[in-house]
Amino acid sequence: MMELVLATRNKDKIREIKNILRGLPVKLFSVQDYPGTPEVEEDGKTLQENAIKKAATIARFTGKWALADDTGLEVAALDGAPGVYAARFAGPDCRYIDNNRKILRLMVGLPRSRRRAQFKCVIALADPKGKTKTVLGIINGYIGLEMKGKHGFGYDPVFVVPEYNKTFAQLGLKTKNKISHRALALEKMKKVLTLLACKKAAAIVASKG
Ligand code: IMP
Repeated sequence: MMELVLATRNKDKIREIKNILRGLPVKLFSVQDYPGTPEVEEDGKTLQENAIKKAATIARFTGKWALADDTGLEVAALDGAPGVYAARFAGPDCRYIDNNRKILRLMVGLPRSRRRAQFKCVIALADPKGKTKTVLGIINGYIGLEMKGKHGFGYDPVFVVPEYNKTFAQLGLKTKNKISHRALALEKMKKVLTLLACKKAAAIVASKG
């Protein structure tokens, strides 16, 4: 079976990625399965640069295929911030709740029409030599007036999905994992992974004669 290392230490992302990729003929590992895995500094200017760097570094280190996710939240009224710097928006070592409070504070008084936002997720797949392919998933929504809901992670309590008029944190993981930026990107990557897994299976069958 094809083996794939998830190039992230974020437990919330790992949970979502594993859930969305369930059913694929691929055996998933995490960086915790490979002691000594280097920390990858996310110093790229774009989501794509960061995702490629994470996937390629972990693939070269482990000698396996690796999959990385880099996600940003772009808020129109904040000129696209926090964007690629979503994790540290409220400062180094900040918590999810600090980021959410900062966004809400910066947007106090803005009407719904000025609260447009989008999540962008780039998923990078790297082969053991570090050659990569990327896909993009985007979901449009808006920033609510307050935090709502207790599911999910990160900016989920403030990101409202217009079709449901609810935040990701209110919708829960089952619905989020069908419609989210991450789900949309991973659906595209699933096609690539399925082809790779089939090629691998064909090679095994051929070698056994
Ligand atoms: P990263 O740079 O891809 O690790 O993600 C940056 C930050 O974006 C994370 O620390 C979270 O705060 C936030 N984030 C990423 N994915 C999601 C999501 O699916 N929902 C809400 N926030 C997210």
